[in-house]
Amino acid sequence: MVGASLALALQAGAKAAGWQIHLIEAQPPKAGGYQPSYDARSTALSQGSARLLAQLGIWERLAERVEPIAHIHVSDQGQPGITRLSARDEGVPALGYVVENTWLGEVLLQALDTSVVQWLAPMQVVAADARAEGYELTLSGEGGEQKLSADLLVVADGGRSALLDNLNVHRQQRRYGQTAIIANITSSKGHQGVAYERFTPSGPLALLPLSDQRSALVWTLPEEEADAVMALPDNAFLQQLQQAFGYRLGGLVRVGERHAYPLSLIEAAEQVRSHLVVLGNAAHSLHPIAGQGFNLSLRDTMALAEHLLAAAAGGQHPGELALLQAYWQQQQSDQQLTVAFSDRLTRLFSNRQPVLTAGRNLGLLGLDLLPPFKHMLARQAMGLKL
Ligand SMILES: Cc1cc2nc3c(=O)[nH]c(=O)nc-3n(C[C@H](O)[C@H](O)[C@H](O)COP(=O)(O)OP(=O)(O)OC[C@H]3O[C@@H](n4cnc5c(N)ncnc54)[C@H](O)[C@@H]3O)c2cc1C
Repeated sequence: MVGASLALALQAGAKAAGWQIHLIEAQPPKAGGYQPSYDARSTALSQGSARLLAQLGIWERLAERVEPIAHIHVSDQGQPGITRLSARDEGVPALGYVVENTWLGEVLLQALDTSVVQWLAPMQVVAADARAEGYELTLSGEGGEQKLSADLLVVADGGRSALLDNLNVHRQQRRYGQTAIIANITSSKGHQGVAYERFTPSGPLALLPLSDQRSALVWTLPEEEADAVMALPDNAFLQQLQQAFGYRLGGLVRVGERHAYPLSLIEAAEQVRSHLVVLGNAAHSLHPIAGQGFNLSLRDTMALAEHLLAAAAGGQHPGELALLQAYWQQQQSDQQLTVAFSDRLTRLFSNRQPVLTAGRNLGLLGLDLLPPFKHMLARQAMGLKL
């Protein structure tokens, strides 16, 4: 998602500057196009991201199949604290939008100008070797191995980036000891545009609104508990989920394909070198509780594109270290703030200690009573400046 977003942000300026972009993806393209389905994963896009996607020229198309979040309802299982954020109170059309990743991917790829962007899939980058003027990549695909030289290499190969190991870019990893279970759920009552975030003694659980009376589940559990829950048959799974979530959506009646993601906070120790940028989950993988990972990466992407396009217009080389460092310096504080926000929220709401439980309930109650704080939280979650 991040690599394709960068290619899209760069393509017009790249064409004018005579640059060629290769977008290299290891997975084969999905046949059959988009269908609202039960195996799709979803992303909560902030208001800020919606604006950036509009700048990229794809928001109108994307909006055909996104679900607006009118309210966010935050609660703690078995505790009195509840807080509600509403788009109307914040003076925005929606607090955010939920998009299925397959649809976002399809819209991004359809918008690429193939005269500038060559999409190579399925094709794997198996090695990247630094040269004086850039990188030499070794690609492996159906037709065997081939070499490709690049003035600038942007590594956006996800949280388990094998390329960063290959390049000796160190990453700090802190395991949360939790696994996120993802699935699409149908409920007997409509969601009315409400995104639910519920904190349970086992971990946080989110149900985000989707089309056709479906909600996208992100259920965070301790690793061993998650293994047991993943192994349950559908009916028993729905019963356990119902117990943890309650009846705000009525009965939970159907569950789609489940996926499990072990969760860590991963941060690359270096994000830029001469001719090299690390972007997206490869640069920072966050806990999904606050729904900030892609939103942050999109802000990084747009900032990087802005610096590169300025370089293209000025005839500057895209791999120059000073240029790439200027990008990194611009984004550093946003990254630090967003990583800290997600990490603190995770630790606060994954803790079973009574003092912290009481504290966060006071926090939730307090948030509901103190509109300015609530407003601040809403703006951070929406990806807007505080
Ligand atoms: C459970 C969960 C829920 C989330 N919910 C939200 C949310 O609501 N909002 C939000 O903003 N973010 C959310 N995120 C975060 C979001 O999913 C990530 O930020 C986003 O996927 C990062 O995209 P990426 O392109 O950097 O990495 P990825 O999506 O991991 O993509 C990396 C790509 O690189 C390819 N690749 C890997 N190695 C190679 C290679 N050697 N050669 C070629 N290709 C390669 C892979 O096939 C893959 O397609 C969530 C994450 C999780 C786990």
